[in-house]
Amino acid sequence: MSHRNFLKTSEFAPTWYEKTAIRAPVCHDAASLSDTYDVAIIGAGLAGLCAALHLAKAGSKVVLIEKFAIGQAASGRNGGFCTSGWACSSQDISKMVGPAQAQALDDLAEEGLGWMRERAFSKDYESCQPVNGCLTLSLFADDKLDISKPGLTKLIRGPRYKSGTLDSTAFHFHPLNFMRCLTLDCLASGVNIQENSEVTKVRSVGDGNTDLSLGDDGKIIVTASQIVITTGGTGGAQFSQLTRLVLPIQTFIAVSDPMPEILAHHIPTDLAIADTRRAGNYFRKLSDGRLLWGMGISALSAPSHKKIKTMATKDIAAHLPELAKDMQSANIKLAYAWSGTMGYARHFMPYVGQIAKNRFCVAGFGGHGMNTAPIAGKVIAEALLGDTNRLEAFRSIPRRETFGALGKVAAEVYYRTSQIKDKIKEIVT
Ligand SMILES: Cc1cc2nc3c(=O)[nH]c(=O)nc-3n(C[C@H](O)[C@H](O)[C@H](O)COP(=O)(O)OP(=O)(O)OC[C@H]3O[C@@H](n4cnc5c(N)ncnc54)[C@H](O)[C@@H]3O)c2cc1C
Repeated sequence: MSHRNFLKTSEFAPTWYEKTAIRAPVCHDAASLSDTYDVAIIGAGLAGLCAALHLAKAGSKVVLIEKFAIGQAASGRNGGFCTSGWACSSQDISKMVGPAQAQALDDLAEEGLGWMRERAFSKDYESCQPVNGCLTLSLFADDKLDISKPGLTKLIRGPRYKSGTLDSTAFHFHPLNFMRCLTLDCLASGVNIQENSEVTKVRSVGDGNTDLSLGDDGKIIVTASQIVITTGGTGGAQFSQLTRLVLPIQTFIAVSDPMPEILAHHIPTDLAIADTRRAGNYFRKLSDGRLLWGMGISALSAPSHKKIKTMATKDIAAHLPELAKDMQSANIKLAYAWSGTMGYARHFMPYVGQIAKNRFCVAGFGGHGMNTAPIAGKVIAEALLGDTNRLEAFRSIPRRETFGALGKVAAEVYYRTSQIKDKIKEIVT
């Protein structure tokens, strides 16, 4: 797809985050590139920026190359929930890698959350507007989470929610501003950042180095001793060692017009809220009194803004019918709608480690990257600096082919089946 057509899709539709963001830092131009780098990182999402920051702080000469503007992909257009754990459940991780490595992965996810909290709540990152706490809701009567129905009605007026649980270590925030603050940190630490520069070719050269060609004409060449691929769900054929393991999956967000009084009545809490279904929703109040509503995935289709707004309108009415009625009476519309691409492995866990001589990858965080991508970036940086201890936990994650188009169909079927199972469970419990 050409760059122009790409910009027309909901994947690059303007987000509420962009409208309310701090100014984007000025990155480097091609003239500032040196001949060789210790490490070249491809993809400036949260994983890439974190890896770059840790490496540069330890004294490595680092170049970070981003196809678009920083924060335009998943890391700057997501729901803004930063919670513990991984996209895969703890039980499934334990079954896959055994209890010891599962514990190590759990500890890493916790450390990632702590790393994000420390920054998001610091003075330099105040534009991220962090808010403490995440409420998880269950639609299933047999879940019996610790906040039962009477307690729940003080937090949310939705008849289908049966019980809930509060995670006070989690928080929600403005992810694009976080990305911009982190970019400033990287620049201050000496990382050379090239935006709007796609790596189109990767070629090993004689002395163990790798040449990266930038742009369609490939005239700009960057040489590095080691490369780290952090392309999320959007890497192309030039990274086939990684893209055969990670599927690009779309997910969707809509944001309403401001309606602070209506929201205060129906959602009398500032907590971020998500439900426990595999194919569930997440929502939160934004700083200017709007509702952010996240929903759905698709491996096969890329719905228009209009379609995303229709999906969100139906979804809100199904879960918060009184809120939907008040929105309609007050003529509150959905002002923004966008999608974003996540990278998913078949087992929902990321691939973090070596994929070829002097080539490493950090990708596949699915819908749960805000704590996991930064810690994985740190662990790969440690490994490149000579300490591979904490890479062990990631090595225990099996590499599984996704089988391209076939894998996408399987992912779509899995999602639709999960939706049906969720519906049946809600009815029978
Ligand atoms: C709509 C949406 C809502 C989400 N909500 C949440 C949430 O609330 N909480 C949560 O924890 N997670 C959430 N996620 C998931 C989370 O955003 C991701 O897991 C995380 O951002 C992944 O980070 P990353 O660095 O791996 O990838 P990305 O942020 O996708 O970064 C990869 C970068 O690589 C660049 N790139 C690709 N190919 C090339 C190339 N050839 N040359 C140069 N650059 C290249 C891309 O342009 C991109 O900037 C959500 C995701 C989406 C899309």
